[in-house]
Amino acid sequence: MVSQLTDAYARKFYYLRLSVTDVCNFRCTYCLPDGYKPNGVTSKSFLSVDEIRRVTRAFATLGTEKVRLTGGEPSLRRDFTDIIAGIRENAAIRQIAVTTNGYRLARDVQQWRDAGLTAINVSVDSLDPRQFHAITGQDKFRQVMEGIDAAFEAGFDKVKVNTVLMRDVNHHQLDTFLAWIKPRPIQLRFIELMETGEGSDLFRRHHISGDSIREQLLARGWIHQIRSRSDGPAQVFCHPDYAGQIGLIMPYEKDFCASCNRLRVSSVGNLHLCLFGDGGVSLRDLLAGDSQQEALQARIASALAHKKQTHFLHQGNTGITQNLSYIGG
Ligand code: SAM
Ligand code: SF4
Repeated sequence: MVSQLTDAYARKFYYLRLSVTDVCNFRCTYCLPDGYKPNGVTSKSFLSVDEIRRVTRAFATLGTEKVRLTGGEPSLRRDFTDIIAGIRENAAIRQIAVTTNGYRLARDVQQWRDAGLTAINVSVDSLDPRQFHAITGQDKFRQVMEGIDAAFEAGFDKVKVNTVLMRDVNHHQLDTFLAWIKPRPIQLRFIELMETGEGSDLFRRHHISGDSIREQLLARGWIHQIRSRSDGPAQVFCHPDYAGQIGLIMPYEKDFCASCNRLRVSSVGNLHLCLFGDGGVSLRDLLAGDSQQEALQARIASALAHKKQTHFLHQGNTGITQNLSYIGG
């Protein structure tokens, strides 16, 4: 009998976001503008495939249905396909998703799918190759677009695209994004820019609420859809004339945290109860062998008792989160 993870505010947790590396080859202005800096963590310090198998087994026993692999750039791990296959061994985990910058998609997406990947999110902040280059520090727009095509060819019937909404960068490009998804089954999700420890200046210059996008969508006949229990935090909109959908992720909106259903584990095995503002509970000492599953489950369940009702972003308190490459956004 699975005991569903539940916190003091009666929120149930079906969704684990697991970072598998801090390393990234892009330099997104809002995340790693100066590129990845090793910071004393070597690739040997990141969770091994066996450790990932064990931690996801414990979460599966506690009711987790969906695991999202993130980073850094998760696909830079040479054993990324083995990671997917290791998680798939847990029958209770019905969805295995990845959030990727798309760099390796065209080359590897078929083998990820064959290993058990069920969903893909690709980050694309601009449909203009030059602007894409300016934002990410990488001239890889075409490669990423080919990657999205390859995902459809590999058999994914839908791809999600993450677009960080930035004032005076892409906030006025709604028509371009809508034209792109009209014939394509892409769910394009505008994510409000979040303030991080290193990104305060950028935040002040470029943060804009998703409200204006929502108003434009509703005025044009887009319809707000109902979410299911292991869905992420997006408000999703659809329109009869479009194959694609639009999602809005608005972490600054009142009550954003009330529907929180997700926990995070960092690439070095720390459990984080919130993307923002906690130091993490180390699980790693319980990941060395298969015999510690019960102790691991007990530690996860007891840590959850300390999950706070909400983040403190409105007070400008970003906790320890210097940038989102650290625990995966
Ligand atoms: N490297 C992968 C990628 O970019 O898709 C996965 C990791 S990345 C940290 C996960 C998501 O967080 C991406 O969609 C990225 O755009 C988003 N992100 C990073 N920093 C952000 C910020 N300050 N505000 C909002 N979203 C952010
Ligand atoms: Fe890398 Fe993703 Fe951060 Fe961009 S958002 S720098 S691709 S981790």
